[in-house]
Amino acid sequence: MSWTGDPGWLADVLRDAGLKVIEHDGWRNRGHGDFRDIRGVLCHHTAGGGPNDWRVVQYGRRDLAGPLAQLVLEKDGTFRVIAAGVCWHAGRGSHPGWPTDNANYHTIGIEAVSRGTPPWDWTPAQLSAYKIGSAAILRRIGRDSRDCVAHHEYSSEGKIDPAGIDMNAFRRDVQALIDNPTGDDMTPDERTMLKAVHKELTQKYPSRSKYRKDDKPVDTLAGIVLNVDGRVHEDHVEREALKRVEWAVGLVKREAAKGDAGAQAVLDQIEGAK
Ligand SMILES: [Zn+2]
Repeated sequence: MSWTGDPGWLADVLRDAGLKVIEHDGWRNRGHGDFRDIRGVLCHHTAGGGPNDWRVVQYGRRDLAGPLAQLVLEKDGTFRVIAAGVCWHAGRGSHPGWPTDNANYHTIGIEAVSRGTPPWDWTPAQLSAYKIGSAAILRRIGRDSRDCVAHHEYSSEGKIDPAGIDMNAFRRDVQALIDNPTGDDMTPDERTMLKAVHKELTQKYPSRSKYRKDDKPVDTLAGIVLNVDGRVHEDHVEREALKRVEWAVGLVKREAAKGDAGAQAVLDQIEGAK
């Protein structure tokens, strides 16, 4: 089942995928009317390549009123959210499962900033964000990478965009991101175990001393182990000092000189017994 209605979630979905997002003022109310059901993502390039390409996408051209796409993808991988309503980006064309010559009402358009001529000016950050963003949107609308389509694949009007991208490889990466958004190769069981380990190592535990004040958590596992190490070593040194072992007496004197009350008490015992 696809999403029906305007994608008011666009900015959140992209941000939740770890992407940089700029929300343009008024984007939620910008568009040429409301979406029907959203069935996919249509990928474009701007055929410009500069930092102001978004202006044409938002405001349109002399012959075509803006907005011309919901999203603009900058070279550094930042998504500009331009509109939540329908935009004029698809033109005439067809794709299995989409209504012929009517994709504007059923697809989200991404205009990626690129000159569109060789040598290709796509940046690694931009291509990575292109795939992550497409995957996040498709996951949100319950579709897979088959509905991530290049304008040149859809168009019956001779479009070439986005030029310089192998869409089959692109879709393979998008599908991998849909299946496994975190990008790791852990099984669900391994992920559960990792969460359990993380919890054990970061939660605080109460003391088990019979002299404890209360059952409130006092420290993490590592904190408790280090405290135990400290106390055991101090006891060992002080026991040796009470037996007048020279190196141990030296250490106790050092700490007593710093004003440590416990070390001073041990020293008093040694000296009082003289
Ligand atoms: Zn296009």
